[in-house]
Amino acid sequence: MIVRCGRCRTEVEVPGPGRYPCPACGALMEVRPRGADPGLVAPPPPPPAPAPSPRVECPECGLRFIVGAVESAPCPNCGASVPVPDEGTW
Ligand SMILES: [Zn+2]
Ligand SMILES: [Zn+2]
Repeated sequence: MIVRCGRCRTEVEVPGPGRYPCPACGALMEVRPRGADPGLVAPPPPPPAPAPSPRVECPECGLRFIVGAVESAPCPNCGASVPVPDEGTW
């Protein structure tokens, strides 16, 4: 691979990543491997979003409340048994 000296702009053939002194001016050239530029590192992926909690509406009093993964839940307001729809319908 060919790198260019940062001081005198001489192009130098080097076998690969590493540190090499410029044959023209003696300046140390640092050759980084491809893709290792710290300015091009992708940011870490965001943490996965928490699963939304099922929310049901009581048919008796209209209260909306969050339930767990159950088939039916008692309404905390009036005590009526409220069916929980399948995932994806709410
Ligand atoms: Zn040089
Ligand atoms: Zn209710």
